[in-house]
Amino acid sequence: MTASVTVLPEKATHQQTRTFNQQLVLRALHDRSPLSRADLARLTGLTRTSVGDLVGTLLDEGLIEEVGRGRSSGGKSPILLRVAPDGRHLIGLDLGEAQFSGAVVNLRGEILRSIDLPLEGRDSEATVELVFRLVDALRADDRSPLLGIGIGAPGIIDTSTGTVRWSVNLNWAELPLGSLVEERYGVPVVVANDSHAAALAELTFRRPRLNNLIVVKVGRGVGAGIILNGQLFQGDGYGAGEFGHISMGSADTPCRCGREGCLETLTSMSALVDAAGVVEPSITDEHDLVAAFQAGVSGIRRLVLDAARQLGVAVGWLIGVLNVRHVLLVGPIADFGDDWLGEVRRYARSSVLTLLARDTQIEFGHVHDDVVVLGASALLMEQQLGLGLVR
Ligand SMILES: [Zn+2]
Repeated sequence: MTASVTVLPEKATHQQTRTFNQQLVLRALHDRSPLSRADLARLTGLTRTSVGDLVGTLLDEGLIEEVGRGRSSGGKSPILLRVAPDGRHLIGLDLGEAQFSGAVVNLRGEILRSIDLPLEGRDSEATVELVFRLVDALRADDRSPLLGIGIGAPGIIDTSTGTVRWSVNLNWAELPLGSLVEERYGVPVVVANDSHAAALAELTFRRPRLNNLIVVKVGRGVGAGIILNGQLFQGDGYGAGEFGHISMGSADTPCRCGREGCLETLTSMSALVDAAGVVEPSITDEHDLVAAFQAGVSGIRRLVLDAARQLGVAVGWLIGVLNVRHVLLVGPIADFGDDWLGEVRRYARSSVLTLLARDTQIEFGHVHDDVVVLGASALLMEQQLGLGLVR
């Protein structure tokens, strides 16, 4: 099947019409299966002949399958159909943290297998090799045909070409990651900013879906994915939500972006690990830091909660600019729990108009560890089959 056609052009070609209709059938089965051919004709408005033809093709392609017979309304009982969960597998990758994570995902959005590989050093070519090693490992022993590969990575990413324009965490600039992966594996590849992918995952898996949503991801970096009117808002240059690099004024800590005093230098997980190591030299990684915070080590608690307040103020600015009522916080930072969240909430609410603050919910995300992997997979499903993942 060719790439998604979500709106049929006025002068659609025969192939465009066919792809569009095929997606209508697939989407109906995805959302409401099992369904008979007659149900499909009724739900899609297509003729029974068209439905019969499209169903035949989808069965041949292995994207749908028969699941027994339904109740007869007089004549022969109808054959019921559904999307074949393993008719295609997807690979979702999260290149955002100290390790690269990847998973094999089926057409129901279920994670079948996942692998993490530690990121050693920041050599640009070696980092690309690590992406290949991760995909190779995930593909080994997987017999289902591959729909494609969805990748979430930090930085400014042109999703139309799959080019990483700038990623300071990975030391990539103008890297055609999508083309490199596509050439090697011969399947469609989508690449998106990791916070944008996280927002898509939260949007996709949240029931009921929200029209407007901000997902703030705090890990090695700080970034936001912004959903407006049910769509991911990427900005004019794919940099919407890059608020980890807004300057917080008085602070003068050098940032990896080359400037000073960015929000990220005060509030990211890596900034906190560095700062905590000065107070308590035994703290060398996130796990040590979270353990010290939870054990109530006083210098550490103060440091982490101060950072939560700074982040809260910046989240308040986002709310003040966009008046979005649902803000979710995701990433390793969620390990700090409710005390940290409480401070973010308090300072976010105190930095905007009371009327806006009162109606805004600030919570942890719902998808947890796999949020980027699932978001990148959701984007790929949407582009290739016109489906949003549901589970
Ligand atoms: Zn910066």
